[in-house]
Amino acid sequence: MSQFDVTVIGSGPGGYVAAIRCAQLGFKTAIIEKYPTMGGTCLNVGCIPSKALLDSSEHFHNAAHNFADHGIIINEPKADLARMIARKNEVVDQTTKGISFLMDKNKITTFEGVGSFESATQIKVTKNDGSTEMIESKYTIIATGSKPTVLPFITLDKERIITSTEALELKEIPKHLIVIGGGVIGLELGSVYKRLGSEVTVVEFMDKIIPTMDASLSKELNKVLRKQGMKFNLSTGVQSVERNGDTVKVTAKNKKGEEVVIEGDYVLVAVGRSPFTKGLEVEKAGVDLDERGRVKVNEHLQTNVSNIYAIGDVVAGAMLAHKASEEGTMVAELIAGQKPHINYNLIPGVVYTWPEVAAVGKTEEQLKAEGVEVKIGNFPMRALGRSRASGDVDGFIKIIADAKTDEVLGVHMIGARAADLIAEAVVAMEFRASAEDISRMSHAHPTYAEGMKEAALDATAKIAIHF
Ligand SMILES: Cc1cc2nc3c(=O)[nH]c(=O)nc-3n(C[C@H](O)[C@H](O)[C@H](O)COP(=O)(O)OP(=O)(O)OC[C@H]3O[C@@H](n4cnc5c(N)ncnc54)[C@H](O)[C@@H]3O)c2cc1C
Repeated sequence: MSQFDVTVIGSGPGGYVAAIRCAQLGFKTAIIEKYPTMGGTCLNVGCIPSKALLDSSEHFHNAAHNFADHGIIINEPKADLARMIARKNEVVDQTTKGISFLMDKNKITTFEGVGSFESATQIKVTKNDGSTEMIESKYTIIATGSKPTVLPFITLDKERIITSTEALELKEIPKHLIVIGGGVIGLELGSVYKRLGSEVTVVEFMDKIIPTMDASLSKELNKVLRKQGMKFNLSTGVQSVERNGDTVKVTAKNKKGEEVVIEGDYVLVAVGRSPFTKGLEVEKAGVDLDERGRVKVNEHLQTNVSNIYAIGDVVAGAMLAHKASEEGTMVAELIAGQKPHINYNLIPGVVYTWPEVAAVGKTEEQLKAEGVEVKIGNFPMRALGRSRASGDVDGFIKIIADAKTDEVLGVHMIGARAADLIAEAVVAMEFRASAEDISRMSHAHPTYAEGMKEAALDATAKIAIHF
């Protein structure tokens, strides 16, 4: 039986980062992954492939709609979906191979197969051919991630009634894609196909899209996506999805109780993700799950069995790759006796639509509910020289600061490159900057980042220069 100090089950951004950090700290480390490629959901069927298709479709959209504005005249561009998907697969292939390289470089032993507990210190690896191998490990980190949530009354056929995984592999551009769920994944993949020419209709149970983000972002994103031609049925609960040949029919009820019937050729079910522990046999190790099937952990990400930890999508909290990675690092350092800490309030959230949406810290609604007195600075992207130069004028940056201390409590933005811009807000808030601190820092001109300075000027003393 092979023996290790730490064994990580699952090679997503939580698991592989945990394994590398464990190896860096001198632990003899193993990682078990059931699929032949490393990287988990994020690298194989999540963050990376979706961003590859978002980038390709954005190029296509710009060629079709925006090039002429810039004085570039081309014949009508054609979308070659097969090539886009092949390119996406190349990106995924390079990225996942990069993780295998990092495992070798850090002398981490990799096992391909399903990992399952035999006891709190013994793990069985069942390979594809049915053969098994036993591992003994002082510590184990569960990083088995999540799977798309399926509504009980919807049968996924994975051809026309699909999840995000199949949406990344379509053979044709849908004529009419119906997206169930107005969250991040539905809007990103809806955007891909909208840009490629599909009609896209989003059906969302809540009264707004991206419901957990600041309400101002939800409203603005709804407006710009509508302008791009996406249709929304909000406050509408799907009741059934039927397929008839190449047609799919979604029947739903809106808040007035009226029946809404939408017909299309593909339905993307994007109603969230659920923790994945199937096959892990946690009960043999005595590890408890919570009422939603997540591995129960304390503030040190330790389960009720002291040598077993859990991280990422399989535990409570935001289902984000960078959150999983931070947790992987934290657990490795805890096992090494260090005292790491994660500030969960400063895990940024991003939606890679165009314009992009990004946020960190508390929303205006949360702060109001907590009774915190705030002052708010807003700056519209269209007032920036950089935005006018590129033509990306939609969106704004909103900075919420404490009314008395001026400390920045939340930054919410929608606009070009918001996914990258949010890093400045994270740094500022990590160091507990005031809005005035940000407003007094020099920001290169012309950049989208000047919007941060201007919004900070507006928040701290209503003295934005360019608006
Ligand atoms: C379409 C899409 C787009 C996304 N875009 C983003 C984004 O832009 N940014 C972002 O931050 N997040 C994004 N996410 C979310 C992100 O992918 C997840 O938050 C992240 O992958 C979670 O990492 P993890 O390590 O917890 O688990 P996962 O990445 O899910 O990895 C878990 C791994 O464990 C393996 N496994 C499970 N059980 C076993 C077992 N018993 N034995 C061996 N192996 C096992 C699985 O095969 C898998 O490889 C996206 C998700 C999707 C679906």
